This record gives sequence, structure tokens and C-alpha cells, in this order.
Amino acid sequence: MESGCVLTDGTALHVFPSRNSIEDILHTKVNATDRGDQEDPFYIVNLGRLAHLYNQWSDLLPSVIPFYAVKCNYDPVILQTLAALGAGFDCASKQEITTILNLGVDPSRIIYANPCKQKSHIRFAAEVGVDVMTFDNEVELYKIKNCFPTAKLVIRIMANDPTATVKLGTKFGVESGHAPHLLSVAKSFGLDVVGVSFHVGSGAQSSSAYANALALAKEVFVNAEKLGFTMKLLDIGGGFPGATGTESFFQEIASTVMSSLEATFGSQYKDLKVIGEPGRYFACSTHVLAVSVISKRCISSHPNKEFMYYINDGIYGSFNCLLHGHVKPTPKILQCSTNSVATSSIVWGPTCDSIDKVNTAFLLPELNVGDWLYYEDMGAYTICAQSPFNGFSRPMAYYYCTDKESNMLRSLLGSSSTEELITQSSLSCQQLVQEHVNTNCLKMEVDCC
Ligand code: PLP
Repeated sequence: MESGCVLTDGTALHVFPSRNSIEDILHTKVNATDRGDQEDPFYIVNLGRLAHLYNQWSDLLPSVIPFYAVKCNYDPVILQTLAALGAGFDCASKQEITTILNLGVDPSRIIYANPCKQKSHIRFAAEVGVDVMTFDNEVELYKIKNCFPTAKLVIRIMANDPTATVKLGTKFGVESGHAPHLLSVAKSFGLDVVGVSFHVGSGAQSSSAYANALALAKEVFVNAEKLGFTMKLLDIGGGFPGATGTESFFQEIASTVMSSLEATFGSQYKDLKVIGEPGRYFACSTHVLAVSVISKRCISSHPNKEFMYYINDGIYGSFNCLLHGHVKPTPKILQCSTNSVATSSIVWGPTCDSIDKVNTAFLLPELNVGDWLYYEDMGAYTICAQSPFNGFSRPMAYYYCTDKESNMLRSLLGSSSTEELITQSSLSCQQLVQEHVNTNCLKMEVDCC
């Protein structure tokens, strides 16, 4: 049976017995009365899983501090939980920096990791004390010289995994062969370069990409030191897998990173600060999306009778990740009113645009209006890029954990009441996070997620 508590920022944390399946939890929420419109799509967000992922990162990459890439999913409770766990943050803009500072996070726990920044955003970073930022070109150095000459700069190099799902090297990163020139321009401007960053590409497919990138980063360290820079920061970027079932690949990457770090930097750089910018790793598997069937058509001309279903989230909403080739979402049945055999079906999103297609030729039993589907692994690059096109808004989120994790999460995030879910509390988010961030980097005991 479900119980719950209210976190000190007013967020309801729903607590389920650990024996409950995802379907059990979704079923409870399908009938929840606090959604306004009962047919609306919704998310369930597993905070216990997030804590487990943080602990796994700390265990397998003990010398790498995770700076969560806010762009991946800026859900406020995900951000608060990561802040309370001790993570830093990779911000790409003035707005992201503001969001993180408003949680009470110290500016030293933020890297402004967008190599091409608007001047006013650089000035803003200077005003609020976010002084670590990346660059990969000469024009950026001119801007930084004018707007924030005392910034601590991190040169982003190109170090691609050619098989990554999203290749970032086409847009960012100086080729390591050109890095010495860029570094000498920085030197001539009197700027302070303190480190190297790279991003092998989001959804990396090869652990050796990290080993190759670390070797290139070391070359740039040596070149920078020849020019008189003191190199203290290494940023290994993102790219780590996040989908359910990719745990062993993460372990493989972590082991490659740890051994390559030792081999390339090792004892020579004892005080080196190493950070990563994981996005997908933390966000992807925390979110499950439930959608309802809002309409249906039968293509009778089709020899095998094909159905087309229309659900209430689509390409312009959570499934915008399909446009970028990030995922192939798999519908699972939550509530089906028939017992029919599966037939080839098309699943469309709710807008009037014909590119708004979520699944093609997918085998589903016959569904009716009011039936429910769900999609797992919907936390990365989904809601963050959704648009209100055709007037459809962001699905509501329910935050939950199992009974095994609830005490740990309540002590981490603070809770004002147990058992009863109420909606108000006296402390703001900022107070909540400040209180817990000050105690910093809590290591939590999470048995299972
Ligand atoms: N850091 C930077 C600069 C990025 O551009 C991205 C993603 O685009 C990330 C980190 C997060 O990458 P991932 O979600 O693959 O971990």
C-alpha cells in the first residue's frame, strides 16, 4: 500500500513497498485525483533510483566528481536531490546558472560548460562568481578577455566517439593539434587556463573513446604547461549510458576511465581535480511516462487490419527525443480493455501534425479510448525540449521511492510530515538544499532500486 511524506519544499514523496512493480505504482497513479484531468499523461520519477545512481558513480568513479548536465532534464526535484547528494552542475546559460544558484548551491560547484557564450551571460557569470568556463575558439577568448578577464578557463578539445548517438564534435572542441595556438592566444591576452575538457558524444558506444580522449587531454596539459599555465582541472564530459540495462557498459567505461586516468595522469598530477558532466546517466532511467489512448482509427483497407492510436503525448512533447534519434521508445501495456491478439499498430501523438508519430508498425493488442500505455527510460532529453505546440502542456510528475529508501531520502531532503500527503510547507527549496548541501556529499545506503 502507498504511503508518503511531504518534503520540506512542499513536494509530495510517494512511498511504495519495494515489492511493488512499476505497473503497480502506475496503476495507483492512473486513478489519482490530484491530476485535475484524469486522462492526462503523467510521469513517475524514481528518486531512490537517482540516489542509487549517485552512489554507483561514487563507487566506480571515486576520483571523478559528477557535475550534472542541467540541460538533460531540469526537473526541480531531480536538481534538488542531486544538489543534496553533493553533485556539482554543468550549466549552459544564464538561466541554468540562476536555477542552480537559487537552490543554494555555491558558485564553485558550477562549471559554465558552453564553449560559445553570449557576452551578457559571461558578464552575469562574473557577477555571480561562476568563474570556471569552457572555450574552444579565439573569438570566445576575446569576449572573455573583455567581459571576465579573471575567469578560470578550460579548453574544450575534440575527442569524438565516432559511434556515439549524438556526435558533438561537429560543433564543439578544438582539434588537439590546434590547441597550442589557442593556448598561446590565451596567454597573450593574460588569461588563466586551468584545465582541459572533452565530450566524446552523448550516448557513447565505446569505452576506448574515453581512453583516447584522456591521452589527447594529457598532450594539451603538457603544451599548456610549456606556456606557463598551471593545469589543475580535467573535465571528462558526459556520454555515459543511462537506459535501464546499460549498467554493465557503465561499469566498463568507469573501469577504463579509472585505469586510463592512472596511466596518463597518475602520480604526476596528485592535486588534479577531475570532474564529469553526466546528463543521461542520471536522468534517463528515473522517469517513466504514462499516456492514455485518446482516439483510434482502424485502417480497414489494410489486409491484416491495422490500428492507429492517438495518445496524449508526442513528438512536440516528451517524445521530441525521437527527432534527434536519441531513443526508440517502446510502448508497454498498462491498462487494456481487450484480450485480443497483437496486431501491427501505429501510435501517433496528439497534435495535428503528421510528423507527430511515436511508434510505427508496433505489435499491440487492440486498445480502446481510455486504455493506458507506458514508456520507460523517458528522463533524458525529453521534457527539457518539449514545446507547447497545439496547446499541450508538460505532464505532471509524481516523485516516489520504495520504503527501503524513504528514510534516507527524507533525511537527505527533509520532510515535514509522514503518512499523509499535504501540499504546503514552511521551508523554501533554497533553505532545504542549503541545509543539506552544507553537510555535503552524504553517502547514502541504498540497498536496491
Ligand atoms: N556536457 C556538455 C557540454 C553537453 O553538451 C552535454 C550534452 O549535450 C552533456 C554534458 C551531457 O551529456 P550526456 O547526457 O551524454 O551525459
